[in-house]
Amino acid sequence: MTFHVMIIPTLSCPSNCSYCWGSVKNAPVMDIEIVKEISKWLNGFRNDLVHFTFHGGEPLLAGYDFFESALPLLQSQGDEIDKKGYKDFGFSLQSNLWLLDEKMADLFSKYKIAISTSIDGPKEINDYQRGEFYFDRTMEKYKMAVEHELNISFICTFTSYSKDFYEEIYNFFLKNKYNLKLHAALPSLRDSNADKWALKGEEHGQLLIDLLDKYLNDLDKFEIKDFDHIAKSYFRRRGTLCTFADCMGDTLAVGHDGSIYPCYRFVGMNEYVMGNVKDHPSMEDLKSSNAWEKLMDFKSFVDDRCKTCSYIKYCRGGCPYNGIVSNEGDIAVDPQCEAYKMIFNEVSKRANKEFKKSALSAFKGDQNKSKNDEKFTIMDLMMKK
Ligand code: SF4
Ligand code: SF4
Repeated sequence: MTFHVMIIPTLSCPSNCSYCWGSVKNAPVMDIEIVKEISKWLNGFRNDLVHFTFHGGEPLLAGYDFFESALPLLQSQGDEIDKKGYKDFGFSLQSNLWLLDEKMADLFSKYKIAISTSIDGPKEINDYQRGEFYFDRTMEKYKMAVEHELNISFICTFTSYSKDFYEEIYNFFLKNKYNLKLHAALPSLRDSNADKWALKGEEHGQLLIDLLDKYLNDLDKFEIKDFDHIAKSYFRRRGTLCTFADCMGDTLAVGHDGSIYPCYRFVGMNEYVMGNVKDHPSMEDLKSSNAWEKLMDFKSFVDDRCKTCSYIKYCRGGCPYNGIVSNEGDIAVDPQCEAYKMIFNEVSKRANKEFKKSALSAFKGDQNKSKNDEKFTIMDLMMKK
């Protein structure tokens, strides 16, 4: 996995999405001094390519001046890395875009920042679960971002409400050729607001199967990145998405005060602080924290609990945050286990069927696809670039 450092300038967010549990009202904002410390800390921390993601809350609340200073500081980190021959250094940002202006768009374009923004489908569905005016605000700024040649993809969250409109939602992204990642609404420990929106494992699994079936008609038109990863993970026998790999240590997140956490999902939870960038800790120092011990307990638990599961190599128990935190301290695998089993089983079933079919055709001397067979195959998905 790429070494991934997530920078969380604040946990505040101007939006108030009904199912969100990640934002905190009036949360402090990171000072540029912390970014200077991040840059110093990473110098010599790990001899590896690094990818920075600005996440939140809403990272744009940090303002233009913050990014104008932070990007060259972090870029110098990239220059060092480039000297060592690594070429994949880069930036991403996850934002609802509401605070984007022309000046910021120019800056992000200069640094080639890949942006993900959240839209849950057509306006009525999106605004029902994210809040009034959300769709128009984000889409207006999306158009500005595209004019500045920014690379934008979408994150579509499915909830217990929107899952029933999956065809409408699918068609919205297909018609507009918007590439997307899927996200299942999760319950939270912070409060119970999000609970009624959460998708149960089986509902999530069925949704993935239904969406995959549709996607195999349209592989050449747009991207649903999760399916590309799931098929590749199955083929390579190792997870290519953080959820399906041992992310521990390959992803770290830095909160507004410089605290280091295992991932953005843990930010703000004191018991998951592994160290602070101001102390320039080594990986060995971070590994001596209680948070690291909890992550290792999760890893050992998965090795035992999932040892008979056919998908263990490329599922790895799912997301440790979901497994550790969503279960209120009791160690467990990701509660979406059922969903993962269902979609991996579907991919495996389809791949086996296709393999048998192509073997039979080869045996009969016919290696061409049937002329009526318009649909793409799992093999096509696995080989997709
Ligand atoms: S904790 Fe979960 S979301 Fe975070 S990097 Fe690991 S798998 Fe991904
Ligand atoms: S699908 Fe479930 S049982 Fe299998 S590895 Fe993933 S979490 Fe474990």
